[in-house]
Amino acid sequence: MRKYILALDQGTTSSRAIAFNSNGKSAGAKNVELKQIFPKPGWVDQDPEEIYSSQMSAMRRMLDETGIKAYEIDSIGITNQRETVVVWDSRTGEPVCNAIVWQCRRTAPICEKLVKTGYTAMIKEKTGLVPDAYFSGTKIKWILENIPKAKELSEQGNIMAGTIDSWLMYKMSGGKVHATDVSNASRTMLFNIKTGKWDDELCEILDIPMDILPKVVDSSGIVFEYELDGVKIPVSGIAGDQQAALFGQTCFEKGDSKNTYGTGCFILMNIGKDIIYSNGGLLTTIAWRINGETEYALEGSVFNAGSTIQWLRDNLGFMENAADSQAMAESVNDSGGVYFVPAFTGLGTPYWDMYARGSITGLTRGVTKAHIVRAGLEAIAYRTSEVLAVMEDDTGAMPCRLYVDGGASANGFLMQFQSDLLGFEIIRPVIRETTALGAAFLAGLATGFWKSKDDLKNLIETDKIYRPSGLCGMRKKTMIGWREAVARSKGDIGF
Ligand code: ADP
Repeated sequence: MRKYILALDQGTTSSRAIAFNSNGKSAGAKNVELKQIFPKPGWVDQDPEEIYSSQMSAMRRMLDETGIKAYEIDSIGITNQRETVVVWDSRTGEPVCNAIVWQCRRTAPICEKLVKTGYTAMIKEKTGLVPDAYFSGTKIKWILENIPKAKELSEQGNIMAGTIDSWLMYKMSGGKVHATDVSNASRTMLFNIKTGKWDDELCEILDIPMDILPKVVDSSGIVFEYELDGVKIPVSGIAGDQQAALFGQTCFEKGDSKNTYGTGCFILMNIGKDIIYSNGGLLTTIAWRINGETEYALEGSVFNAGSTIQWLRDNLGFMENAADSQAMAESVNDSGGVYFVPAFTGLGTPYWDMYARGSITGLTRGVTKAHIVRAGLEAIAYRTSEVLAVMEDDTGAMPCRLYVDGGASANGFLMQFQSDLLGFEIIRPVIRETTALGAAFLAGLATGFWKSKDDLKNLIETDKIYRPSGLCGMRKKTMIGWREAVARSKGDIGF
């Protein structure tokens, strides 16, 4: 009996394998850490072989621990850290160098050149992105130009490139499959989100031969059969991590939005079948393609969210565990006039100020640790509200609820404050592994394990709904003080 879906969640810091049963509940999970390599300041690498082996060992250990057998697995869903690239020898499968990770800034000069040449508008129009080292295209270009082996193989026509989903599928299929799904493709800065194809002009500008790129497939659909312990299992769901989380939160309708409160925040809004370009610095991306039908999302991120609490814990020693921040915040009535702008690495949407730095303002003799911790949590909610306000401007509609996940979504104070600030419901599901769940949902929809999106919606159990309280009006006023505090953190006033 095929009663489980296996989700492989290849993240930046670890590889995770989870088995979900037909009720969408986890039947077992295993995590294997992944080494980060920092060859130079601002450069971030990973070993492609370790990416694959850590994922396989997470899968194997989870199966061993739970006793789940290969013949019990209906299908496999893959979700992954986005934008990270691997380039390999198409004959041997040997990588030509380390994977260049999404965080790596080594291709910033290439991006500056693209901007100076005047390509920004064209890139936005075709890809929904802004020219930035974050995306895969310039990373592939860098490898082709700087790694002698890559140059040599490229001249011989023996080279392949891809994001992490491609790499995992290539390895899992024994070198037979070179594919990626649309959601991953849409993060490369080489993929035209209007036509749903690799873009000639972009590949030419970046000197990337189009035939080294993978075949682009739907996010839900059988790509190949993976042989595990002699059993053939369809690999039938693929999506980049944030899009998978949007799917796992069952944000299927236009306007449905989710926020993942992790180290940073990733906020995605489903915008349906028509592309909307942002005027406020959000990215337009492909959410998924199912049965050939593409749906889009707007994406905004906040660089520092849970990291604010980490910093208060580790650098200032204000608490032992991140979770203690809730009781501390609730021990005072308000932040005592303190605003904490956690601009440790600059400010993203809607400020886009790379030179902004953190600040704590409004200090008086009466201020305690609790006020500062509270101000730190409030800041996460303020930043999220600012990104959602840009989404409202861009789409002309504010969502009427926000689905949440990620480590800091466990913080009830933060969730209530967020709801008061936004003036609508915050919905937190029981299962917070929404990324893996989304990949499993995509896989199970393709094989008929689950019949429809409505079936999936019925599987989601709500842990808690936070509704705006009587403090809603007052919270909106505190936003004015927040904006003043942000103004003081900005790079142009001398930090
Ligand atoms: P990531 O996937 O980005 O590593 P996680 O989703 O695991 O992040 O969340 C971890 C982050 O959430 C940490 O930065 C931590 O400080 C923060 N965090 C975890 N629990 C809480 C909590 N109860 N209250 C506030 N922040 C929390």
